[in-house]
Amino acid sequence: MKVQSVRTHVLDYPLDTQFESASMHFSRRQHCLVEVVCDDGTVGWGECLGPATLNAAVVDAYGASLIGKDPLKTEVIWLELYNRLRDQGQRGLTVTALSGIDIALWDIKGKYFDVPISTLLGGRVRDSVHAYATGSFRREGVDRVTDIAHEVAGYRREGFHAVKIKIGFDVEEDLAVIAAVRDAVGPDVRLMIDANHGYDFLEAVEVGVRAAEYGVDWFEEPVLPEQISTYRAVRAEQPIPVAGGETWHGRYAMQEPLETRAIDILQPDICGVGGFTEMRRVADMAAMHGVRLVPHVWGTAICIAASLQFMASLLPNPPRRHPIDPILEFDRTENPFRQAVVVTPLEHEYGVVPIPDGPGLGIEINRDALSQYALKES
Ligand SMILES: [Mg+2]
Repeated sequence: MKVQSVRTHVLDYPLDTQFESASMHFSRRQHCLVEVVCDDGTVGWGECLGPATLNAAVVDAYGASLIGKDPLKTEVIWLELYNRLRDQGQRGLTVTALSGIDIALWDIKGKYFDVPISTLLGGRVRDSVHAYATGSFRREGVDRVTDIAHEVAGYRREGFHAVKIKIGFDVEEDLAVIAAVRDAVGPDVRLMIDANHGYDFLEAVEVGVRAAEYGVDWFEEPVLPEQISTYRAVRAEQPIPVAGGETWHGRYAMQEPLETRAIDILQPDICGVGGFTEMRRVADMAAMHGVRLVPHVWGTAICIAASLQFMASLLPNPPRRHPIDPILEFDRTENPFRQAVVVTPLEHEYGVVPIPDGPGLGIEINRDALSQYALKES
């Protein structure tokens, strides 16, 4: 079996209602999918985290060198591609693009051996995972406190056991949102806060100290992701566990946060950290340092399926009789192609998502949706 072609699909949808995090405004949803076709007809799918058209350009640049290669040599290909752009790469698009290719190669490997990727990773620990609802972004023209309280009450009614809300805009308003959300979901729903690196050190500490009374599970990206020592200081000066890692790509980016204990919870994204090949290494590093791992997930059903295959095989740490299970980030924001790209959507039932057990990623791609949502070049 040899790689015959590497294609990208950039999907695009202009949002009906625009929204924003502390660091980004969303007027469209765009994601880059990767399709690797082999000479025996086997097709593998992957996805890249981040700017879709830029990821597609890097995947195209990598793709030419894959033609004729054995797609089962995932470690060898990973190293070759990473090494090609190492001197100017190491993090960012060079690794997010590589992630999409690596996921597609693992999908091919699973189909070749006729097993789910979780089997190739060493076998399943679990067949389903609890999901937490991610949403509660800021929207224009509405009262943010009541808007978000209303939104999270809906997640509770759907059966989610946990919600994550967006902060990082304004300390007082953010604290009012956190209080209103706790009131809306009641004491039994887990609550996480995500500042998308919108605060400086003093704001982050103030929010952490004052939000703790509302029972917050973790404080995500409190400060800029390059400032590892500031992460450490935030962790030391306020009581909520600190989470981060969605912008740290490749194992070397994880080294300092783990070795200097700048975080309590590591959040690598399989579509950004380097695919299955690198995610395994990062999971081992986190386990070695006693840091909990909760994958970041922000993409289509391909990204969700890859995350699920990885989570199926993620070993409990510690391996006690009733271990801590990883929870799945489940994006609830507007994105019509998120589930449309697969024939059978990966949906939750009362906050629980079953893990597909078909070969590879365990999904079947709906090519009509790829055409329908393909980016129209202007
Ligand atoms: Mg986040």
